[in-house]
Amino acid sequence: DVSCPALTLTHRFADELPEMAIPWRAEEAPDPRVLVADEQLAAELGLDPEWLTAGLLTGVDLPAGAKPVAQAYAGHQFGGYSPRLGDGRALLLGEIDGRDLHLKGSGRTPFARGGDGLAAVGPMLREHIVSRGMHALGIPTTRSLAVVATGRTVYREEPLPGAVLARVAASHLRVGSFQYARATGDLGLLRRLADHAISRHHPATAGDYLAFFDAVVAAQASLIAQWMLVGFVHGVMNTDNMTISGETIDYGPCAFMEAVDPATVYSSIDTGGRYAYGNQPGIGQWNLARLAEALLPLIHDDEQQAIPLAVQALERFGPAFDAAWSAGMRAKLGLSADAEQQSLVDELAVLLRGARVDHTTFFRTLSAAARGDAEPARALFADPAGFDSWLPRWRALSPDAAAMDRVNPLYIPRNHLVEEALSAAVGGDLAPARRLLEAVSDPFRERPGLTRYAEPAPGDFGPYRTFC
Ligand code: AMP
Ligand code: MG
Ligand code: MG
Repeated sequence: DVSCPALTLTHRFADELPEMAIPWRAEEAPDPRVLVADEQLAAELGLDPEWLTAGLLTGVDLPAGAKPVAQAYAGHQFGGYSPRLGDGRALLLGEIDGRDLHLKGSGRTPFARGGDGLAAVGPMLREHIVSRGMHALGIPTTRSLAVVATGRTVYREEPLPGAVLARVAASHLRVGSFQYARATGDLGLLRRLADHAISRHHPATAGDYLAFFDAVVAAQASLIAQWMLVGFVHGVMNTDNMTISGETIDYGPCAFMEAVDPATVYSSIDTGGRYAYGNQPGIGQWNLARLAEALLPLIHDDEQQAIPLAVQALERFGPAFDAAWSAGMRAKLGLSADAEQQSLVDELAVLLRGARVDHTTFFRTLSAAARGDAEPARALFADPAGFDSWLPRWRALSPDAAAMDRVNPLYIPRNHLVEEALSAAVGGDLAPARRLLEAVSDPFRERPGLTRYAEPAPGDFGPYRTFC
């Protein structure tokens, strides 16, 4: 089966940065079967859906001349530095139209350390579902082209069915890629990496590494604000999981906040709450400080002189985040950009936190209040006094209900729905996953029959924990 005659992979990363690319092959899967594929993404890439064979998607049946590589990177994990992480269970197959085609779960590589190089169906399907939901919400993200069950058993706490995820991204360049290049002491490599990243993601900054850093700061400030506006908790914002492009990457222990609370944490390993919902902007800036450190010798020949320049750029993160957050909140509230209502937005944030109302339900329900029926939103508050005083002041600004419904989703990959879909899929039933994908890939348009996909977790779902 010669799978993909017209698929041309380029190898710009491997060719320009060989010091960070180890040629490697995917492990053969005993009984590969495509579980889910994103045909719209395939079409965007100019791929005929018929080419999406299990052989291509597990990396064993590649077009002639393909040069898969494992990428090197370093990273701070929960604040502790690891000089050598890299693709322990992943491969970059190459680029299609400048976008990376990458596999996760394709077997051990020289970066595997103690790991088995494998991935299980549940977590790969989680990445597929959540990243499709994020994309449909308009949030920059890596995309999942497909999940293939390998037919191999993977051992975690229990035996699980194995899988490979095929991922498409603007690139897989991370803060950790720059930390790795910097730590080699090879300034030529660092410059080549920066030039590669600039040309792919921030071409307007060519030749100006401080402007490049500024562009990454701006992209991440905007990205994290967009996460916060939908209640997304990434869960493992290590520097190796933060992209230079500004796309969300690495859907491991991620989850969506329901009751508004800045301390919300889902990851079982985040015992200190380092990556809690409300800490995400601060951690984003911390990670960008690590990027700045790596870039210092490019910013100025004299690093002492580079430091204040980098610090100034880093300090633009806060205002950029605040501006993106405020603009997003104004849109969620159906208000025009020029209305003077910052205090109203701030007051609402305090109200929601105090009442622990469901974030997604509240904003979607509020458009009914803009149309005249405030009861559904009001009913979300055990004590509605604060809401009652806020409501007429907001209504006086003439919120646009239709505009609100275009930015406040009904259907997000809620934790209990994702769990339900994953456990059914692990048991061989993909129907719940497909139904959830149908809901979250068109999140703003209300459809009959999907009511339960718009509802918070039932009370007996209990406290939620994610594992990566
Ligand atoms: P992550 O927590 O997914 O961002 O991964 C952190 C590091 O651990 C990366 O270098 C991964 O490639 C590596 N890694 C994670 N799981 C495995 C595995 N099962 N086998 C080998 N390496 C792994
Ligand atoms: Mg990672
Ligand atoms: Mg992970």
